Amino acid sequence: MTILVTGGAGFIGSAMVRFLIHETDARVVNLDALTYAASPENLSSVEGHERYCFEQADIRDAAALGEIFRRHRPSAVIHMAAETHVDRSIDAPETFIDTNVMGTFRLLQAARIYLDEAGGGTGGGDDFRFLHISTDEVFGSLGPGGPFDEQSPYRPNSPYAASKAAADHLVRAMSGTYGLSTLIGNCSNNYGPHQFPEKMIPMMIISALEGRPLPVYGDGGNVRDWLFVEDHVRALWSILQDGRPGESYCIGGGAQLRNIDLVRKICGILDDVQPRGDGKSHEEGISFVQDRPNHDLRYAIDHKKITDEMGWRPAVSFDEGLRKTITWYLENSQWWKPLAEGRRGLG
Ligand code: NAD
Repeated sequence: MTILVTGGAGFIGSAMVRFLIHETDARVVNLDALTYAASPENLSSVEGHERYCFEQADIRDAAALGEIFRRHRPSAVIHMAAETHVDRSIDAPETFIDTNVMGTFRLLQAARIYLDEAGGGTGGGDDFRFLHISTDEVFGSLGPGGPFDEQSPYRPNSPYAASKAAADHLVRAMSGTYGLSTLIGNCSNNYGPHQFPEKMIPMMIISALEGRPLPVYGDGGNVRDWLFVEDHVRALWSILQDGRPGESYCIGGGAQLRNIDLVRKICGILDDVQPRGDGKSHEEGISFVQDRPNHDLRYAIDHKKITDEMGWRPAVSFDEGLRKTITWYLENSQWWKPLAEGRRGLG
């Protein structure tokens, strides 16, 4: 089985590639444009492996996609390449529409053309699957009611969420119109090792380690549902194998926390393992900053469908995952220091 993974040099993509190489027999083609968010070092453990191959390409480049499909003849696509940072989507939305909408469209088209040309006589054919990785942010902000599930209406509130929602609709339409075997995973907030320093959990850990303020949006009351990245990867592997074509699956960690409580938890662990020099708690660094416009108040996911159909459930508790993550950042400053410094250089 050859799997084409897009965005495999990013946070979740590289965890997916490492899983596929180390824990399955699949051959992996990692297609990534290597934007600012990519970290090729995330892949050092698979570099040179006989079942691993890297293609630097942009998902908006139809010609490059066509050539890569023809050459590698994948039997599945796991599509993760995207612009992913909500704050950037507010500052500069166009790239998000370009990559997340047009890029997804071109990738779907490339898959369709490849399957038409292959006519079932290659690694493609009837068993071919296109798994699109999406987010719970497409559902917007959760009110006082129950968690989001596969029936929740789409109500995206940021340009990022809107671009992912548009991509989901394209994936769904391609499945119905052309019979492409598609699957969608709508996942809650991921965290874990190798996450780019602009995202909330690594940003808080790194700011605390560097003695800088820990900026919390608004009053810190926004609630997120957190999932350890390796649990997400296992869910995607289950969906790829056992998901029903045309369906979407909600994936969540069942770990809902207010942002302020999350930051306090991080501070508590750091007080334990890396206390401040002045004897004060890391919580002293918390500073409340102006809220993000149109900031979703609450996300939570009901993962009953994937649990009932495939037996998947999160295996790593939030406390365990957070400790593992903090330990990884403590032990891998050579990974995040240049990235964090690069970001400060950009202002
Ligand atoms: P990331 O920002 O860490 O990585 C994205 C990767 O995509 C990078 O390696 C980048 O180089 C690549 N990329 C970007 N534009 C590209 C293009 N035009 N062509 C080819 N490659 C390109 O992202 P992530 O956090 O790992 O997220 C992966 C996927 O999961 C995304 O689709 C995201 O929307 C989705 N998702 C993320 C989360 C989360 O909490 N991080 C939650 C739910 C869903």
